[in-house]
Amino acid sequence: MPTKKHDQFSMQNPLTQYPQPPFPAQGQEAPGLDSRMKPEPDHGEDTYKGFGRLAGRKALITGADSGIGRAVAIAFAREGADIVLNYLPIEQADAREVIKLIEAEGRRAIAMPGDLKDERFCKDLVDKAHEQLGGLDILVNVAGKQVARKEVAHLTSEQFDATMKTNVYALFWLCQAAVPLMPAGATIINTASIQSYQPSATLLDYATTKAAIVAFTKALAKQVIERGIRVNAVAPGPIWTVLQPSGGQPAEKIPNFGGQTPMKRPGQPAECAPLYVLLASQESSYITGEVFGVTGGNPLP
Ligand code: NAD
Ligand code: MG
Repeated sequence: MPTKKHDQFSMQNPLTQYPQPPFPAQGQEAPGLDSRMKPEPDHGEDTYKGFGRLAGRKALITGADSGIGRAVAIAFAREGADIVLNYLPIEQADAREVIKLIEAEGRRAIAMPGDLKDERFCKDLVDKAHEQLGGLDILVNVAGKQVARKEVAHLTSEQFDATMKTNVYALFWLCQAAVPLMPAGATIINTASIQSYQPSATLLDYATTKAAIVAFTKALAKQVIERGIRVNAVAPGPIWTVLQPSGGQPAEKIPNFGGQTPMKRPGQPAECAPLYVLLASQESSYITGEVFGVTGGNPLP
C-alpha cells in the first residue's frame, strides 16, 4: 500500500515514498477499474490538503473517475472547486468513489458519463457543464486511450482512429466548445506525456497523439490569450494507473513498470495533481503554452 500517513508537504525521500517494482502481474479489460489494481494507486485521498486556491471555480474534468483525473478531481475539490466529471459509463463504480470524496468536501460533483469519441457528446458535455455549474472556469482534459501493439502490422485502422478520436479530436471538440463560454482568467490544462518526446516502439498511435497534444496546446495558448485564457499541458512519465495493466503496456512490462526511471519507481496520481492545481490557479498567471513533466527524472527536451 502507498504511504498515506503524511500530507503532501511532509519532507520525505521521494525514492522510497511510494511502492517500487516488482509489482504483481495483473491485467484487466480496458478501461479497467482503479479499485482492482494491486497495489491500489494513491490519488491523495488521505494526503491532499487544500488551501482554497480554486475557491468557487467551476471545473470540467475528463477521465475523472480514475488515475490522474481522479487525483485532480480530489485536489480541485479540496481547493474549493465544483466539478463536472466525465468518464465512460462502464466506469461508474470508480466514479462513485470520487463523487463521494468531492461531496465530503462540501463541493458539487456532477456526473456526466459518456463517450468523448462522439463530437455531439463533447459539445453537449461542455454546454451542460457550463449550464449546471453556472459557468466554466477550468477545463482539464485527462481522458486518454493507450493500447500497446508490438508491430505496426497489428495496429488496426480502428484502433488508430479510436486513439486519435479519444486523445486528439475530443480535445479539439471540447476546447472549441469551451473557449467561447470561458471568462478571462479561465484555464485549460491538457495531458500530454513523456511519449510526446520519447515514444516507445509499442505506442505508435498513442505517442503520435501525445505529440499532437503538445502542438495543439502551444498553438491554442497563443490564440486564446487574447481572451485572457491560459492553456498548458502536463506530461507525465510512467504513472501507476489502470491505463497500463488494461492494455497500455504489454503484460510482461507491468511487474517492472516505472523501474527504468532515475527514481526506479512509477509516479502516483497524487504526485501529478499539485501541478494541475498550480496551472488552474491564478498563481500561474504568467504561464501559458508550456508543457511540464512529472517523470521521475527523465527530462523532457
Ligand atoms: P486512467 O485509465 O485512469 O484514465 C484514463 C481515462 O480516460 C479513463 O478513466 C476513461 O474515463 C477515459 N476515457 C478513455 N476513453 C474514453 C472515451 N472514449 N470517452 C470518455 N472517456 C474516456 O489512466 P491515467 O493514466 O490516469 O490516464 C489519464 C491521462 O494521463 C491519459 O491522457 C494518459 O494518456 C495520460 N498519461 C498517463 C500516463 C501513465 O503512465 N499512466 C503517462 C503519461 C500520460
Ligand atoms: Mg477509468
